[in-house]
Amino acid sequence: PEAITIQELANRMAERAVDVIRMLMKQGAMHKITDVIDADTAQLIAEELGHTVKRVAASDVEEGLFDVVDDSTDTEPRSPVVTVMGHVDHGKTSLLDALRHANVVSGEAGGITQHIGAYQVASPESGKKITFIDTPGHAAFTAMRARGAKVTDIVILVVAADDGVMPQTIEAINHAKAAKVPMIIAINKIDKPDAKPERVRTELLQHEVQVESMGGQVVDVEVSAKNKTNLDKLLEMISLQADLLDLKTNAMRPAEGTVIEAKLDRGRGPVATVLVQRGTLRVGDIIVAGAEMGRVRALISDQGETVDEAGPSVPVEVLGFNGPPEAGDRLAVVENEARARQVTSYRAHQKRENAAASASGMRGSLEQMMS
Ligand code: GDP
Ligand code: MG
Repeated sequence: PEAITIQELANRMAERAVDVIRMLMKQGAMHKITDVIDADTAQLIAEELGHTVKRVAASDVEEGLFDVVDDSTDTEPRSPVVTVMGHVDHGKTSLLDALRHANVVSGEAGGITQHIGAYQVASPESGKKITFIDTPGHAAFTAMRARGAKVTDIVILVVAADDGVMPQTIEAINHAKAAKVPMIIAINKIDKPDAKPERVRTELLQHEVQVESMGGQVVDVEVSAKNKTNLDKLLEMISLQADLLDLKTNAMRPAEGTVIEAKLDRGRGPVATVLVQRGTLRVGDIIVAGAEMGRVRALISDQGETVDEAGPSVPVEVLGFNGPPEAGDRLAVVENEARARQVTSYRAHQKRENAAASASGMRGSLEQMMS
């Protein structure tokens, strides 16, 4: 059943919460400001206070935020978005760091690059850009998938040549397959004397990953993140795979994107790293992500530079949220603040209700366990 807190009801009517509590008291019910009342009671109070009530469904509130149906205007090519996965200590972080410093899109090599959780590099031969999500780890990938966010076009599966296929390698394979995301295998640590790349290929075959030399379609590249061996080749293979995927977008529309990570920064307030996926995000845009809203105060590129806008496949740090959203939350630009408030207060309410429902569910099962 629908419900609302007294505080929220008062906010929406622009009335004082004490007046709402007073009205409820007249009806013989004692309430605190944080109490939840049902929708019928809320409607009665609102009407008595002279407001017209319009109950809205989720479909009304969320309507038009994401244009998931119409992709007919997605005609411009966009850069691929790549996530690195693999077993612990196989070299994910090392590889991401090596790639970042090998071919940073702009700025001097060796220059200080600010960590924003995602970055772009240029493929050395074609000059085409590739976006890397710099938060290796299956948890991030799973969290995003759980929220229905699809950010990754290609998974780089890192397998250490001296260790071979391990439990988290298999986990990553399963994630990529479930998400129907193509994989490129980076056989890492080939500099090591005990590297056995051939054994890696055989082990992959046992998990139904068939690399080209084993008669399959999956591309593999032998690399050393330590010695920076074959990184250009890996980037080129990513570009080729991306060409096959024929990724398209439309930059000429309000931005849609996904929150990669977010935090509350002491000096700068809520900061979210956002991957723009369609449209162009601009300073001044009114945005919603999950139950948070804001107005874009500043955009900071992966180079740590302030920018006015960010187009499709571009990762950018967003300042101006009222609170930090969650990784995997989808970002949308809305027409005005009233619309942003409508969406976020509705979502906040849903979130509280879900939390309450799962808490009471837990109590229920506890009671069952005790009886
Ligand atoms: P992650 O847990 O997958 O992120 O792995 P890391 O990048 O932290 O690497 C784990 C260890 O392997 C570190 O000690 C790295 O220095 C080392 N390492 C990573 N890549 C290579 C490589 O190409 N060659 C060698 N010899 N060591 C590597
Ligand atoms: Mg790591």
